[in-house]
Amino acid sequence: MIRELIQSAYYPREISAMFKIKMSGFGGSKVKAPLDDLATKLDDSEFCYAALKKVSRSFAAVIDQLPPELRDPICIFYLVLRGLDTIEDDTSFPDEQKHPLLLEFYSKSLDPEWSIEGVGDAEDYKILLANYFRVSRSFQRLEEKYQLVIMDICKRMGEGMVEFSEKPVNSKEDYDKYCHYVAGLVGIGLSQLFTISGREDVMLSQREDLSNSMGLFLQKTNIVRDYNEDLNFGRSFWPKEIWGRYAETLDAFEKNPASPVSLACLNHMVKNALHHAKDSLEYLSAIDDPKVFRFCAIPQAMAIATLSKVYNNPEVFTGVVKIRKGLTALMMLQLNDFATAKRYFRFFSMELMNKLDRNDPNYVETKDILIEIIAVCNAKPSYRAMEIA
Ligand code: MG
Repeated sequence: MIRELIQSAYYPREISAMFKIKMSGFGGSKVKAPLDDLATKLDDSEFCYAALKKVSRSFAAVIDQLPPELRDPICIFYLVLRGLDTIEDDTSFPDEQKHPLLLEFYSKSLDPEWSIEGVGDAEDYKILLANYFRVSRSFQRLEEKYQLVIMDICKRMGEGMVEFSEKPVNSKEDYDKYCHYVAGLVGIGLSQLFTISGREDVMLSQREDLSNSMGLFLQKTNIVRDYNEDLNFGRSFWPKEIWGRYAETLDAFEKNPASPVSLACLNHMVKNALHHAKDSLEYLSAIDDPKVFRFCAIPQAMAIATLSKVYNNPEVFTGVVKIRKGLTALMMLQLNDFATAKRYFRFFSMELMNKLDRNDPNYVETKDILIEIIAVCNAKPSYRAMEIA
């Protein structure tokens, strides 16, 4: 924690937020024991929550904040998709076995015995799949209405993964389509879970375009930020239609991180992601339940903060760029309503606006998108809306 405190030295509110989060036990304690030890000691449900904390501590923390009836469905939804993604990401798993498994993985949730050994590029992911029957048994204890949504999304995502394992992400259209499969569908599924739990109005799940944008905004932010890590793993999701304008090969940027051409490409990718910010705000404005709101708003605010941090930042090409832990803590404490979400979106849009370089080929377009986001943040509720309310 010392390093994080130093990073936030000029931001006293972030330091106090970090302590508050730590003292309140937000997200529960860290799981220290190895997951394979726990697999032999815990019951199915406890194993699922321990696995969730192991594979994504930040997601475990936000799930903890959900209304109780949504916690189990969303925890299982996450683990099912994590299992699927583990199969997709394991480059040493041969395609002849991988493709059929991706296509039928959704049905494994109905099999109380199924598991697979040795698949996954990280130890905890491997253990998750080796104990997958525990996820399946927990899945079978969910109400059927939740099971149907989870299986449908998992099936569609598996089909999309197979489609893209046979072709690279070339055009911007491919990029949107791939992100739809691996993240937009998560947004669509979550909206359905919120709605059928009775916590949200059916309208939220009917606006699939907005749910899709919620996923795309997060996914594209991660794809821009993870340029270096993905390159090292021998994979790439930056669409050639964009990077091909700036270089012959994608790794050219890593060799020349601070050149104006490399930075122009990075900024173009940021601009592409920013297109989803307005939809994200519109979605957030439509949420009724304060707990569901927090669950959705925290990652979205972290995404726009990350986009501001990676913009024009040569370190993206050579390492990992992350927002300060203290800033994340502050957002977790404060993001309780739409007004605060707009405040954060406005703040990071303004920060981005101040970083824009007139010589950047995407200067005008990026500025226009930011102006639009800021206008949404500044808009007062109309008289008509107030009358209805
Ligand atoms: Mg993947």
